Amino acid sequence: MAAEGSAPSAAIEPAKGIFIDNRWRPSHSGRTVDVYAPAEGTVFARIAAGDAADIDAAVAAARKARETGAWGRLAPAERGRILSRLGLLVLDHAEELALLEARDTGKPMKQARADIQACARYFEFFGGAADKFHGETIPFMNGYFVATEREPHGVTGHIIPWNYPAQMFGRTLAPALAVGNATVIKPAEDACLTPLRLAELAAEAGFPEGAINLVPGIGTEAGAALIAHRGIDFLSFTGSPEVGVLVQTAAARNHIPCTLELGGKSPQIVFADVDLDSALPSLVNAIVQNAGQTCSAGSRLLVEKSAYDRVVGAVSNRFATLRAGTPAMDLDLGPLINPRQKKRVETFCANAATDGITLLAEGRIADGVPKDGYFVAPKLFGPVARANTLARDEVFGPILAVLPFEDESDAVALANGTDFGLIAGVWTRDAKRATRVGRKVKAGQVYINAYGAGGGIELPFGGMKKSGHGREKGMAALQDVTTLKTLVMKHD
Ligand code: NAD
Repeated sequence: MAAEGSAPSAAIEPAKGIFIDNRWRPSHSGRTVDVYAPAEGTVFARIAAGDAADIDAAVAAARKARETGAWGRLAPAERGRILSRLGLLVLDHAEELALLEARDTGKPMKQARADIQACARYFEFFGGAADKFHGETIPFMNGYFVATEREPHGVTGHIIPWNYPAQMFGRTLAPALAVGNATVIKPAEDACLTPLRLAELAAEAGFPEGAINLVPGIGTEAGAALIAHRGIDFLSFTGSPEVGVLVQTAAARNHIPCTLELGGKSPQIVFADVDLDSALPSLVNAIVQNAGQTCSAGSRLLVEKSAYDRVVGAVSNRFATLRAGTPAMDLDLGPLINPRQKKRVETFCANAATDGITLLAEGRIADGVPKDGYFVAPKLFGPVARANTLARDEVFGPILAVLPFEDESDAVALANGTDFGLIAGVWTRDAKRATRVGRKVKAGQVYINAYGAGGGIELPFGGMKKSGHGREKGMAALQDVTTLKTLVMKHD
């Protein structure tokens, strides 16, 4: 969580500045932003409050790296080797990074450790892909030779959220760098200490000056300056749908492409023939992981009416065992990121009570957590009416809404009945039905008898509808971070 700079204190990590050309330098204004530890509710670090002048300097460094500097001249295999080296360095520093990530976001240590492993995987995967993504030749008229080429956009701008700072750094930057773009990243003011450290490790891994430039700061200043900047050739944004509209509008003004990843209201569709023992951990974990602050959280549990009591009973029993605690307690979930998110989640719960929705089960906040931490107990509500806000809007907290359905076609209609379309889970022993439903659900990823599969970096990921557009992860990510050129040569 972040707020404009307060009085200095010895225990607070000072701001490092802005990272341009592989060096920290003071920000233009000298202003800072306080960074809070969500499990403690106290300031533990400061970051620079970058502004338009800092973004200008970062974009200029990236442009130089791409057009006249070392980065633009490197062979793809050499670029890939540098990415892979960063992946290895991340693993070498895994515990240090996990501790930082956990303090900054409040998440349990086991989740922070898994996030750092995933961050390393992005650089490993896209490092290996750097020299394996290419164009094709096209048969054309006699006397012609035609080839296509995938060109980097040039300078790419990246805005990431606070829920998975280290993973997002890898997810958005690794593919863009693999194909030779020079990058400027604006991490989230609420949690960005691992991205700051990762930028240093990138320099150590051998990225030349200007390949990765990082400007911390608040969204309405540094973020707004980045999306409006005329020197940016492509934008990648992950965050709220509201800011996503601003990003797309800015991209349209500058006639550049963008990818948007804007969250979801993802359904877990449970048919009566579900193997409940194997489904149960995923049904619960999909909403508890990262305290529900995950774009792909499985926040709607759709249950076939004939199995409603059995499924909801089992999920309720498990919910009642859940515990929220500090990173060091390493329980099922941590706190929310800031008081604003906590209030937002509590408002959803209060509205559910006002609307007469039954609280089916509730976990607990562990004894001994700091009193100022932003904790909320996980809650299971149901049955929730289809038109209710809890059934339609993204809560971004550990709140699961149960909705009954009649049959297969009702399940599909219900699954598709929100504005979002990011991911979905289908749970049934009937393979034909699973395939039919999976193909009809409007979502970028549909899992059958699984959910999320550990975030598989090999698997194309991205949304439909209000969840956004474009694909990250997998080889598909490389398409969005490049543009296609056709070379037509007449030789007769
Ligand atoms: P946000 O969209 O405001 O912040 C995301 C990023 O965008 C941050 O880096 C922020 O600094 C930047 N930003 C904010 N305003 C900007 C602007 N005008 N121009 C350019 N950049 C700007 O998200 P939030 O306020 O932190 O969270 C609000 C809601 O967003 C959450 O409740 C959740 O629903 C959603 N969210 C989704 C994701 C996701 O992974 N899809 C992540 C975080 C939040």
